[in-house]
Amino acid sequence: MAMPQLQTALAELGLKKYRAKQIFDWLYRKCVFDFAQMSNIGKAERELLQEKFSVLPAEVNTVRKLDSSDGLTRKLLLELSDGNAVETVLMHHDYGYSVCVSSQAGCDMHCAFCASGLNGAIRNLSVAEILAQVYVFNQELVSREERVSRIVVMGSGEPMLNFDAVFGALQFLHEPDGANISYRNMTVSTCGIIPGIQRMQELGLPISLAVSLHAVRMELRNELMPVNKGYPFPDVIAAAEQYARSSGRQVTYEYILLKDKNDSDRDAELLAEYLRYKQAGVNLIPVNPVPEKGFFRPDKKRIEKFLSVLQKHHVHATIRKEMGKDINAACGQLRAAFAKEKNYAE
Ligand code: SAH
Repeated sequence: MAMPQLQTALAELGLKKYRAKQIFDWLYRKCVFDFAQMSNIGKAERELLQEKFSVLPAEVNTVRKLDSSDGLTRKLLLELSDGNAVETVLMHHDYGYSVCVSSQAGCDMHCAFCASGLNGAIRNLSVAEILAQVYVFNQELVSREERVSRIVVMGSGEPMLNFDAVFGALQFLHEPDGANISYRNMTVSTCGIIPGIQRMQELGLPISLAVSLHAVRMELRNELMPVNKGYPFPDVIAAAEQYARSSGRQVTYEYILLKDKNDSDRDAELLAEYLRYKQAGVNLIPVNPVPEKGFFRPDKKRIEKFLSVLQKHHVHATIRKEMGKDINAACGQLRAAFAKEKNYAE
C-alpha cells in the first residue's frame, strides 16, 4: 500500500490518519516488520493492525543464504506463500549497495543459455513480492546505517511481461516515504518486448533501460532467444533508441559472450554497425555456464579482442564486472536447484 491507501484503510478501521506515517516510518525507515514492536502505537491498535494487515518481508521464508567469498555479494532464495521461490541479490559496490530483483517466479522466454526457466512454475510477482526483495536487505543494512541505493531488475523473469507490478514497485521505491531511490539509479532489463519499451517511454520516468541483445545475426538470435521471432532485434534497437532520445538516458545493450557462437570479430563488427552513433553502451558478459545448456565461456584473449573491435569502431563497451560467481549468482541457478530438490523430495 502506498501512503494514501494506508491512510484510507486506517480511517476505515477508526484509526487516526497520522498512524500511517508512523507505520511507514517503522516499516521503511527502521525496517521493523512486526506490528508488536511499533512502540509508539497503543497495544489495542497494534493488535488490530496485526489482525488486519500483513507485512510481506516478515512472511517470506529465507530458504538459502549465500555469501560470496569476497564478502561483496549476498544472495537469498526467498520462499513465497505459495511455495514458489525467488532469488534476490545484494551487491556492495564502492558507490553503495545495489539489489538485483526478480520480476517473475521463473521465466517463459526460453533463452537457450539461461537457467531461469529450467524448473518450477512461472507466475508474475506482486508489487509486495518485488518490494520484499529489497526490504529484506534494508533490514540487514539498517543497523549499519546503510541502505540500498540502486535497483536493477535483472533477476529471473521478463519485467515487461509484469509491467504494472514492476513499475509500481519502482515508483514505490522512489517515494521519499518508501526508499527514496532516484529513478536514475534504477535499471530495467528486457529481452526485447517492444510494447513494454514503448509503455516505459510513455511513463516518462528517467529509469535506465537495458536490452539483452546477445546476437546480431537473425538466425542465431532466433536460436538463442526465441523472443526474436516476435520482436526482431533491429526493431528492438529502434524502440530502445527512441527511449534513449525521449528519456535522455543511454541504453545499455547486454551481450553475453558464448564461445564459438557469437564471439567472432565479425560479430563484433556487426554489433558495432548496429550501435554506432546511437546513445548506447555495450556490456559484455562472459556467460555463466549452465551445465544443462552446453554453453561455454570464451577465453580471456577472445573477450579482450571482441572488446577492442567494438572500441575501434567507437562503440562504448565494458566487460561486466563479475560478482558472486562462486555463489551461483547467475540468473535462476539457485532457484532451479531448489525446485529440483523439492520435486525429488515430493
Ligand atoms: N528478462 C530480462 C531480465 C532478466 S535476465 C532480460 O532478458 O533482460 C538478466 C540478464 O542475464 C539478461 O541479459 C540475460 O540474458 C542474462 N543471462 C541469462 N542467463 C545467463 C547466463 N547463463 N550467463 C550470463 N548471463 C545470463
